[in-house]
Amino acid sequence: MTDLEILRARVFELEEQLEAASIDIVAGVPTRSRLSQDLAKAWSAFERNPLQNMSILMLDIDMFKDVNDTYGHAAGDRALRAVATEIKNLARQHDLFGRWGGEEFVMCVRTDTTDGARAMAERLRARIASLKLGGVPRVTVSIGVYAVGDCPTLESAIKAADGAMYQAKRTGRNRVVVGRGPSA
Ligand code: GH3
Ligand code: MG
Ligand code: MG
Repeated sequence: MTDLEILRARVFELEEQLEAASIDIVAGVPTRSRLSQDLAKAWSAFERNPLQNMSILMLDIDMFKDVNDTYGHAAGDRALRAVATEIKNLARQHDLFGRWGGEEFVMCVRTDTTDGARAMAERLRARIASLKLGGVPRVTVSIGVYAVGDCPTLESAIKAADGAMYQAKRTGRNRVVVGRGPSA
């Protein structure tokens, strides 16, 4: 191989590693860093052309510590991957999603109305609650939904979705809560 061929092969290898690194190894969905980059791009596009409603969905698996404690960490990992797969299956072409942290996921969806985003979240919640998981009876998720229109920054929109998710936790879990805008 010539020096140039060796260099090209190395560049190819590095590109493959970078590609691999942007997918979370346990969940099989984009990592937080990859999702953050995609969200930043989607946010600028939305600011330029806010034709459709854009909403952030923040999902957190309910009582996941108990799942690990009762059925073991490997079973927990399988449940985590199953939840991530449902998110991936529900997402449409232009939706963004990824693992945000431990047992938390973020989705960014375009719908005609905020109610459309709530309906998507509700569908996802129901599908996850009915998942048959080997070795784990079932897992549920709490989902916070927030339409980004009223938020000055992407960070504040994510924070608002997180707040709605915590409200879903406080009010019983296995629920979808739509956060209200600052003016509501
Ligand atoms: P809540 O309904 O309030 O969210 O309760 P919770 O138990 O889900 O929340 P808590 O924050 O107490 O626990 C989160 C658990 O998620 C603890 C941690 O071990 C588990 N977890 C985080 N990442 C992973 C992972 O990659 N695999 C497994 N198996 N467990 C994980
Ligand atoms: Mg959590
Ligand atoms: Mg949790």
